[in-house]
Formats: sequence, C-alpha cells, structure tokens
Amino acid sequence: MLNFDNRFLNALPGDSNTSRHSRQVHGALWSRVAPTPVSAPKLIAHSKEVASMLGLSDEAMRSPEMVNALSGNGVLPGMETYATAYGGHQFGNWAGQLGDGRAILLGEVVAPDNARFELQLKGAGPTPYSRRADGRAVLRSSIREFLCSEAMHHLGIPTTRALSLVATGDDVLRDMFYNGDEKPEPGAIVCRVAPSFIRFGHFELLASRGESALLQRLIDFTISNYFAHYPTAEKPIVAWFSEVCERTATLVAHWMRVGFVHGVMNTDNMSILGLTIDYGPYGWIDNFDGGWTPNTTDAGGKRYCYGRQPGVARWNLARLGDALFTLGGEADDFEEALKRFDITYNAVITDAFAAKFGLDRWRSAADGADDGALVDAAFSLMTQAEVDMTDFFRRLTTAHSVEDLRPAFYVDALFDQHRAGFAAWWEHYETRIALNDLSATERATKMNAANPRYVLRNYLAQQAIDAAHDGDDSKISELLDVMRNPYVEQAGRESFAEKRPDWARHKAGCSMLSCSS
Ligand code: AMP
Ligand code: MG
Repeated sequence: MLNFDNRFLNALPGDSNTSRHSRQVHGALWSRVAPTPVSAPKLIAHSKEVASMLGLSDEAMRSPEMVNALSGNGVLPGMETYATAYGGHQFGNWAGQLGDGRAILLGEVVAPDNARFELQLKGAGPTPYSRRADGRAVLRSSIREFLCSEAMHHLGIPTTRALSLVATGDDVLRDMFYNGDEKPEPGAIVCRVAPSFIRFGHFELLASRGESALLQRLIDFTISNYFAHYPTAEKPIVAWFSEVCERTATLVAHWMRVGFVHGVMNTDNMSILGLTIDYGPYGWIDNFDGGWTPNTTDAGGKRYCYGRQPGVARWNLARLGDALFTLGGEADDFEEALKRFDITYNAVITDAFAAKFGLDRWRSAADGADDGALVDAAFSLMTQAEVDMTDFFRRLTTAHSVEDLRPAFYVDALFDQHRAGFAAWWEHYETRIALNDLSATERATKMNAANPRYVLRNYLAQQAIDAAHDGDDSKISELLDVMRNPYVEQAGRESFAEKRPDWARHKAGCSMLSCSS
C-alpha cells in the first residue's frame, strides 16, 4: 500500500535501549518505540489531498489495516516506529532534552511521484521522551491540529500536513484550566505528514551536550536530503543556515498576513524546513490586536503574541545559530545570515501588506508615497476600534467609504468614536489608491488573493469540537471543505465568514487555550 524507505533511521545512529521508560538519550537521534494500542479506533476524518499525495485511495484509507496503522494498533509492511531526541528553548529558557514525547514516527514514504514524506502519529502513547506525561492527545486538540494543518496549506502557507484523525475510544485525563480539576476527555490521534520533522531543537540538544560529531552528521543529513543545492557552497553550514533564516522569515510573514498566532514558538516547535509545526494553543486574530496571545500560559508575558512573532522567530534562529557555531566558523558569518531574516521578512511582509491594502507596490517617500505610515495608521486604528482583521480587509476591496467598513467593527460605539480618525485615514488611502499603477479589477484580484475570506476562526473550530463531543463528526469535514478555498466567496457558506459571535468572546477554546491538550 505504501513504499517505505526510512532514511532518518538508516543514516543516523539510534538508541540501543529499546524500552519505553523515560530517560535521557545520549549519542543517538532516535529510539525505537511501538505505539500503545487503543481500544476502539475510528477514522473520523481524513484529508483526501494528503492521501492522494501519498497514493492512497479513499478505499485504502478506510481499510482495517490502514485504520489500525493510523491508530497505533498495527504496522504496515515497511513501517518502523520510533521517536526522536531534541531539546529546546521554552519561553526563553534552555529546557534540556524534550523529544517526541507523544509523537511516534512511522517511517518515510516514497510517494508515487518519488516525493518523500515522513508519517508521524501524535498521541499514540508514551515514548522514552514522555517524561511524566502520558503520550496521548485529546480529541479537541487533535481536531484543531487536523483542521488547521490543512487550512494553512490551502492558504498557501508552509505547514506540516494532516492525513487522518482517528478517535481512540479511550479517555485521556486532562486538567484543562490548570486548577487541579482533572477530567476524562475522549482521546484521538492525528497522523501528520511532512518531508521531515527535524526541528531547531534537534541541533540544539547535540550542541548543548558537546556531541559535535553527531551534530555534524545531522547537519550533513539535513543539507544533503532537504537542501540539496548547497553541498557545493564554500561554507555549507552558513549557506544553509541563511536559507533556514529566509524560509523562517517567509513563514512568519505569512502568519502575520493572515492573522495566525502560533502560541508556543519554542525552539522545539520550529521546523528546520520553515514549516508551521505543532499546532497547540494557536489562534486567529479576530479584532485586530498586536498584543493578543491565544495561549493562557503566555497571558502574563505575552512572549508569543501576534506582534512579537517576527522578533521571536529571529531570536529562535539566533539560538539555532549558537548551536551551529559550536562547530566553529566566523561569528560574523552567522550575523550576516541572521540579517537575511530581516531582509527577507521585510520584503515578504511589505509585499503582503501592499497586496492586502490593494497597493500597486510598496512605496516609500522617494517613490511618491509613505506606505509604511498608511499601513501603521490603519493597524493602530483597527486596534483601538476593535476591528475584525479578516472582515476588514475583504470589505476594503469593495468599500467606497468608511461607512462600508462598519460591519467589520465589533462595537457600534467604537465605530462612532473612531469615525473621524477612520475618515482622515480614508482620505489618505484614496489619495494613495489614485497613484496606483493598477486597474480597479487588478487591484481587487490582488487584494482577494492576499486576504482570505475564510480562516479557521477559534470559535468555528470550537463548534466542530462541541459537535464531535456530542457524537456528530460531520462538522469537521464540513469545515475542512470550507477551508479548502479560503480566498473564494462560497455561496451558501456566508456564516463561516462571520466575525466572532458575542458568545465566543470569553469562552474557553474560542478566546483562550491552554497547552493542556
Ligand atoms: P509542546 O509544548 O506541545 O510542543 O510540548 C513540549 C514537549 O512536551 C515535547 O517534548 C512534547 O513531546 C512533550 N509533551 C507534550 N504533551 C505531552 C504528553 N501528553 N505526553 C508526553 N509528552 C508530551
Ligand atoms: Mg512541540
């Protein structure tokens, strides 16, 4: 059914200890571990796009062998199961060894078109890296990961994918609000798919332990398999690190474009390929607010709020740079590479903002306009007046006056209070649009391609979760279907574009999320 060729296992050293107990693993990048079987696996949903990318038909997806493999109750021929060792900086502090505590790889598939993808179960039971936790995942967070992985892909943003969502039939105990009140919740397993799940933290762990030879092997493995155009570079590590900086900058600029907040940008949650990875307490901006974080654990420091994401990504890259620098080289080269982050972020975000606002290009004073001031003023007004980000930009495409933007406001009184400010901005904006070297149609097309009509708003995911808890899984596939075409108006699906309803403003899962998942 699937053709496996497990390069990570074959090329890199593993742990000789095959037991499951929690431990520090030295001199190895992985440990063999079998998933722990579940009672009553049921395939709730799957992504037909990911299945077909792997050469799997709908029928194959529903076969008992496949459902068993996707729930950890069996393996397919060629599958080898293992967990990997990584470390990470969590909330700014070095946390030592973390590793795949609740993720188990199933190996690497060679797809019919020869593209390669690793398969990984999230929530398939304990591994040597589970520390004191159970290795499981609850249904609510699995639904969120499954839907958001696919929604991000359809938005055109680099991400790990999700092949399947399986209910386990077993309960998992979670203290959702960290108040000592543990409750049983239904468990689930997502099968994630990506060319590689290597994180910044894999390199950091080896560097922190002075395991230089192994660090060099991991770098060689990463470059030769995933950055194949670099081996000839004069300074391959720096050239490769520069590309990681560029990819990460592009990724975060796109998060900013669509209003995505990752929520836990620890270095163990940063993909070396520049993919969005580890969907936990993420969220989407409703009313625009640079200081908003969806993660309750982050509510005090707001380290991972929307507006700080670019700075945090750069800080994380600097930690990766520190790890690589333990192998030697020139500090200046690493500094130069980090500047690639700034340059790339600036280029991608200004392009994105120009598109979002319908500007022909990003202009500075020398080019006849101060687009930076125009855009800053808009975001500042949107923050003060609590304007819905997604709705605002779609309305801006067709608006003829500030009045046309009114539905994007959450509070009528705030519209009235800020009307004069918006009117002044609108005048500035109209003058700028008049400078455009674009027809009205070209402008609208450009805006609609950068401004999604549908995003996986927190309350939409929560409604699908609530229904699933009541035994109705149909909302999950329906929502996935809406998110397949986020930039296109879908007749009859207007309700999925509605801004956050009042009931969701302070409801758990809709406005705030805990890491406890
Ligand atoms: P996260 O903040 O979700 O990225 O997780 C940080 C670390 O904790 C990773 O090493 C995870 O594998 C581990 N972890 C999180 N939840 C669990 C769990 N339920 N069981 C085992 N390990 C976990
Ligand atoms: Mg993680």
